[in-house]
Amino acid sequence: MDNFDYAQHFYHKLATARGPSCLLQVELHPGPHCDLYQCPHCYGHGQLTLPGQPLTAAEFGAALDDVVEFAPTVIMSGVTTEPLTHAEPAAVIAEVRRRGVPLGLYTKGRRLEGDVVDALLEGSGECFVTVSIDEVDPGAYIARHGLRMASTEKGPGGLSAVDYQQRVLDNVRAFKARRDARGAAVELRIALLLFAENSDERAAVEAVGSLADLADRLRIAFPQNRNDGQPAGAMPGDTAGVLDGLRRRFAGNPKVRILHDTAKPVRNAEFIRCRAQRFQITIDRCGNVFPCPQVAVQPYRHLSFGNVREQPLRSLLRSPRRLAMFEWDVDSQMRCRICDRKDEAVNVALAELSRAFDRPA
Ligand code: SF4
Repeated sequence: MDNFDYAQHFYHKLATARGPSCLLQVELHPGPHCDLYQCPHCYGHGQLTLPGQPLTAAEFGAALDDVVEFAPTVIMSGVTTEPLTHAEPAAVIAEVRRRGVPLGLYTKGRRLEGDVVDALLEGSGECFVTVSIDEVDPGAYIARHGLRMASTEKGPGGLSAVDYQQRVLDNVRAFKARRDARGAAVELRIALLLFAENSDERAAVEAVGSLADLADRLRIAFPQNRNDGQPAGAMPGDTAGVLDGLRRRFAGNPKVRILHDTAKPVRNAEFIRCRAQRFQITIDRCGNVFPCPQVAVQPYRHLSFGNVREQPLRSLLRSPRRLAMFEWDVDSQMRCRICDRKDEAVNVALAELSRAFDRPA
């Protein structure tokens, strides 16, 4: 007997009928470093990006020209670096905004100021900014982000590590005030991370109470294990129970979003091929193109299928190298399986659809 599901079949057709250039997401990792942050829970903790000559803002823009017809969401982020540490971060943002494609910026917020804010508030396309504050208590903020008390930024007006959180909160407050004054449709989100020390309901209620006026949305999640397999930090015994409790507690709060599938820090091992790579790419700070954000670091350099400075992105997307990788075994050939949660969810769901519909008639 065969249980045929029209809707699932439709999703399967959607996922398999797209051409290799028809991207849903382009992620840019323009930053060379992370200021004084050395977060022990960082996915790419201790991993280096590939060396080379950094791309200018105009070069990032030229690469986007090859995919702009598909209107992919452009994410500015970094797996081990802060995107706003690029030499001209406002210009990179402007290159995205002027092309009218959706933009999402993931930042620690230390550099969310000056012309960066102007560039984000320009334009009418969809745009959101997520600031990873992670911890509300000032002492916990320093420890959680590996900020050494004695450290100070190099250069004129360098900021001390102990001043980081206050600067971030000031930047977020100022950003929201300018956005509201201009009536710009840019959504401001704050991300909070749960660990053993801050995941009881009272602490979460306090955190939400102190940040609610600063943002349109507060995103609460447990961190995933790091890419080197190390745990992100100490977790409570019943992570699923904690998320359930928070979901009930904040059920009527439209600003709070609980990332419910973050209870398990380990990666799924059920799928054999990476299907998420068909819908996205990541371009690192030097122009190397990767199948996903997590692998845009030196240990996975074998997964880069070219550089936009040497070959147009348009041809890289259809290159034999990239198309061959669509059929590679994740464990023995790609040697990655460090997907972030979105990509893992896509890979698991599409593997299920494939099992259901890729059978010979
Ligand atoms: S880490 Fe996951 S999403 Fe990234 S290339 Fe490997 S299988 Fe694909």
